Amino acid sequence: MHLCFMIQVEQLQFAYPRSEFQLSIEELKIEAGEKVAVVGPSGSGKTTLLNLLSGIIVPEQGSVIVDGQTVSAMPDSERRNFRIAEIGFVFQQFELVEYLRVADNIRLPYLINRTLSESSATRERLNDLANSVGIGDKLKRWVHQLSQGEQQRVAICRALLPEPKLILADEPTGNLDPANKQRILSVLFEQVDRGGQTLIVVTHDMAILDGFDRIVDFEKFRKPNSLASPEVAV
Ligand code: ADP
Ligand code: MG
Repeated sequence: MHLCFMIQVEQLQFAYPRSEFQLSIEELKIEAGEKVAVVGPSGSGKTTLLNLLSGIIVPEQGSVIVDGQTVSAMPDSERRNFRIAEIGFVFQQFELVEYLRVADNIRLPYLINRTLSESSATRERLNDLANSVGIGDKLKRWVHQLSQGEQQRVAICRALLPEPKLILADEPTGNLDPANKQRILSVLFEQVDRGGQTLIVVTHDMAILDGFDRIVDFEKFRKPNSLASPEVAV
């Protein structure tokens, strides 16, 4: 049977210049529509992985294929267009725009991407999304008038609004209390279940793993020489 992969990473090697850190992924395949949590401690390369999947950075070796397109072989401008059109990215540091109000931050993909066009349905979806994450009454505020947890939720609404095929979320519950963590995850799951989208969440929080189809442990992407020797491993 032909499986439809949203992500295919093969024989990937990546290192930052002047840094000891190395990422090595022999194979990572994620099917369309899967909800996957990638877990690993701080500094293990989770953000790096998402940047590779979205073509923000490219590997030295190996390939990154997203939705049938070889992102790792595209020129810069093409990768940028691909990212804007296909991927909803929830950044660990949110990357909100200080001089825009909350509603315009959520609409941002429509303001910077000419291939997206807004309709009254978009506006309705924006309101629904904001209400579902509990910031519906804050759409006219400036970003600095929100708590960290509220900013986190703005970032999530922005990634979801254009209904991209692939949603990448970098520690999306990192700034939230337990009740809000569960709420945010329910919104993410509800959205992807409805739209058949693929969701990849990277996290170091083992308390949020219920409800994912699959958990991928980052441990297996470490360079073999950085693992403990077999004699001491248990
Ligand atoms: P995580 O998201 O799991 O905390 P990161 O992917 O951010 O981990 O970082 C993995 C490793 O790469 C860390 O050791 C970090 O210091 C290093 N690193 C991250 N970004 C850069 C960069 N731009 N240049 C050099 N080293 C980096
Ligand atoms: Mg990170």
